[in-house]
Amino acid sequence: MHASHSGIPARFLFFGLALIWLNAGCISSRRVEDYTFARSAICEVHDVPMKEKIVPQTYGMRRSGWILNLRCARQRLFPHAGEVYDTYACLASYERYARIHVCLECTTARQKWLVENPPAFEYDWQYLDYCDSLWRQFAQSYVRRN
Ligand SMILES: [Zn+2]
Repeated sequence: MHASHSGIPARFLFFGLALIWLNAGCISSRRVEDYTFARSAICEVHDVPMKEKIVPQTYGMRRSGWILNLRCARQRLFPHAGEVYDTYACLASYERYARIHVCLECTTARQKWLVENPPAFEYDWQYLDYCDSLWRQFAQSYVRRN
């Protein structure tokens, strides 16, 4: 399928990635939204202890059948996967990062779901690629800082 069918022009994605790359070096605690505070550190799906982790946060009113399926699966099957935290909000949060509880079994369940339910359209692949590249860049910048 040709890229022009997709909802997000590639140059916007690259522009966004460039901004994120420029800002990756400066995580201050003010810019981390805490989703762990006063919440259980035991995964409600898998009943195992979880680790706290800071991950990049993204947003956007992305709508497609596949993304909605992924969103439902996330709530039901892998609420604590180690992944970019998508707030699904229409506006960017002031907080660029999220502190979340990560469950290894949720992370595995997400990967399994993605293999069994691959994106059908370019738009969905772009969303997945975007989240993956955010994740990789964040991981690399994290390594450099430590
Ligand atoms: Zn879990």
